[in-house]
Amino acid sequence: MVVCVVARLPHRILDTTDVRSWGLAVVVAVAVVAGARAMARAPFTLRHKRLRQWAVGEVKTSLASLVAGVLATLPLYALLRSTPNWWLAAWLIFAGVTVLWQVATPAVLRARAGAATTGSPALIAQVHAVAEKAGVDVGEVIVAGKAGARCGNAYVVGLGRTRRLVIEQALSAWPPELVDQVVAHELGHWRLGHTARRLPLTLLAELAALGAAAAVLTFAPLLDWAGVSSAGDPRSYPLLLVVGAVVAFPVRCLLAWRDRAQERAADRFALDLLDQPDRFDAMLQRAADDSGVPRTLPWWRYPTAGHPPIDQRAAACHPNASHPKGS
Ligand SMILES: [Zn+2]
Repeated sequence: MVVCVVARLPHRILDTTDVRSWGLAVVVAVAVVAGARAMARAPFTLRHKRLRQWAVGEVKTSLASLVAGVLATLPLYALLRSTPNWWLAAWLIFAGVTVLWQVATPAVLRARAGAATTGSPALIAQVHAVAEKAGVDVGEVIVAGKAGARCGNAYVVGLGRTRRLVIEQALSAWPPELVDQVVAHELGHWRLGHTARRLPLTLLAELAALGAAAAVLTFAPLLDWAGVSSAGDPRSYPLLLVVGAVVAFPVRCLLAWRDRAQERAADRFALDLLDQPDRFDAMLQRAADDSGVPRTLPWWRYPTAGHPPIDQRAAACHPNASHPKGS
C-alpha cells in the first residue's frame, strides 16, 4: 500500500487509460492495490509451491479481494464525493452492521450447524448444571463445529433475548471436569453482560476512528503529497487504506485492552463459582496444548491481543503462590 501511495501507481495506470467515470476508476484503483499486494506476498507464498499452482491460487485470491474491495469501496467513494460529513454516514452504516451482526449471530450459527449437530445429551445436561449454579437461564445451547476437530472452543453470542451459549463439538472429547470450567468462564461473560457492555465503547471507537480519518483526509499537504485534489478522487484509494490502518490501530488497542479486562473478569467469575483453581488451570493448559492458544505473547502482539496469554491467566488462578503451577 505504501509503495502504491509513494509511486502513485493508480495515477500512472489511470493516466494511460481514458477512464472517465469515477466508478470505473475505483475498480482500477482496487485492482492495482490487489495486484501490488499479490506481488508483495509472492516471496512468502511462492516458497513451497509450483509456479503454476501459485499463479492459479494468486489469481483466485486477487479476484476475490477485487470483488470484495469494489463492493465495499464503491459506496464509500459515493459518500466521500457527496458530503463532507461522509464519516458520520459511514459510522451509521458501521454501527448498524455491528449491532445487526451481534443480534443475528446466533441465528447464523444455528443455521450453519443444522440438525446434524445437536450435541450429546450428557454434554447439554452438564452445561445446564453449571448454568443453574451460575443463576443463568441459558435456554437452548448451540453445538457447532465438527466432532473430530482438534481445536475446541466455546463462546457467548447474541444480544439480549438472542443470547446463546455456543459449544464446539471438539470440547465433548475433553474431560467433563474441564468442560465445566470452560462453561463457567463463558457464563461469566453472560452474567456480567459483556457483549452489551462492550457495544457502546465499540461504537464510540468506530466513530472516533472515522472522525480522525476524515480530519486527516482534509489535510491539504497530505493530499498534495499523495497527488490527489480530494479524498473523493479514486486515486486516493491506497492512501485511504494507509490512513485507515493508522487510525484503526489505536482503536484496536483500546478494544483489545477492554477485551482482556473482560476475559480476566470471566476467569474470576469461573474461579468464584466453581472454586476449583487447579482444574481451571488444567483447563487453560489443555486449551494451550489442544487449541494452540498462546502461553506467552511477544510485546508487539500483546496490545492487540483479545485474550491475556495463558501463563498470565494461569498465574491469576493461584494469587498466593510464588510459582504458578503449570507455567
Ligand atoms: Zn472469554
